[in-house]
Amino acid sequence: MGFFDKFKKKVTSTVEKATQSVEKVVEKTTESVTEVFKFNKIKEGLSKTKQNFSDKLKNLLGGRKIDDELLEDIESIMLTADIGFSTTEFIIENIKAKVKKENIEDAEKIYSILKEEIHNILITSPSSENDKIYAIPRDKKPYTIMVIGVNGVGKTTTIGKLANNYKLNGHDVIIGAADTFRAAANEQLAIWAERAGVSIIQQAQGADPGAVIYDTIKSAIAKNKDVAIIDTAGRLHNKGGLMSELEKLTRVTKKLKPDGPDEVFLVLDATTGQNAIQQAKEFMKVSEVTGIVLTKLDGTAKGGVVIPIAAELKLPVRYIGVGEQMNDLQVFDPTYFVEALFGSETGEETILEGE
Ligand code: GDP
Ligand code: MG
Repeated sequence: MGFFDKFKKKVTSTVEKATQSVEKVVEKTTESVTEVFKFNKIKEGLSKTKQNFSDKLKNLLGGRKIDDELLEDIESIMLTADIGFSTTEFIIENIKAKVKKENIEDAEKIYSILKEEIHNILITSPSSENDKIYAIPRDKKPYTIMVIGVNGVGKTTTIGKLANNYKLNGHDVIIGAADTFRAAANEQLAIWAERAGVSIIQQAQGADPGAVIYDTIKSAIAKNKDVAIIDTAGRLHNKGGLMSELEKLTRVTKKLKPDGPDEVFLVLDATTGQNAIQQAKEFMKVSEVTGIVLTKLDGTAKGGVVIPIAAELKLPVRYIGVGEQMNDLQVFDPTYFVEALFGSETGEETILEGE
């Protein structure tokens, strides 16, 4: 190789290396910009709960001394934020123990203790293992997700957002409109499918939901789709009816996909507070729910309900809804959640920075 060729090779490889490292920086920057965007969405969505819970708590702790009365006041703030009785009791006991063990006198320290307690509960719950990248096991295609829950909780909206998120992560999605009770349900879902740019299978109003599921999965297999998301009706009057309907939908799914459905997401409306937990318990009796989607966190000061749902139901809270727009469905990340809810005493995002 002559001098000129050697020189050219060296320049080329230097340029290549430089390009690669610029690409890496861009990739990293894009990644962190996306993360900040997600975090801000969650923070915005939780602002009402923050006002009603952590801001109130902070005000309460200023200048107080740690005694039974203070602990009762803390407890009542936790209950108002819908953290629920047993989880609240559990946390209060832990605070008491820690205050005693470490001889804590400054009441303001309770703020960070409580934050840590809640973080601990969440990171030791099933929600800590949430998939954050919309991964699909290779042998599970079409990844079949059934979405269930009572009327008005946000199933259809969630499906639109979820379809969009899967698509943004490179997957080909098909939606099945198995809520055939109302004509408007078809229309609403079709609008979401169009927004997300994914295909949809529908039949006339009143059609058999089982037939819609069958068509959807059949089409998903034929067209080699990655994900099939099934909307279902929430208008089921009694437990027996609900059970047989869900059983039927599962049975039909298994005809085409013996190990399906891969996920059964139960959608719960955070504005209903403790009722959401009751609802979940009922649904869990009749269906093999694999995860919870908690919607409308932006519209409520009862967002604390995420904590008992995550801690007590032994199911992951997979996604949270923080608004009505397409990009308002976020993966539930315990660390982001706690950080958005509490911030830090110094105003810095400590947990995020540490990652
Ligand atoms: P479905 O009956 O369970 O299918 O519920 P829909 O998807 O039709 O939603 C009912 C209402 O809740 C609609 O007005 C949605 O825009 C609204 N909704 C759903 N998710 C959210 C959310 O995360 N935040 C807010 N603010 N509204 C939501
Ligand atoms: Mg609907």
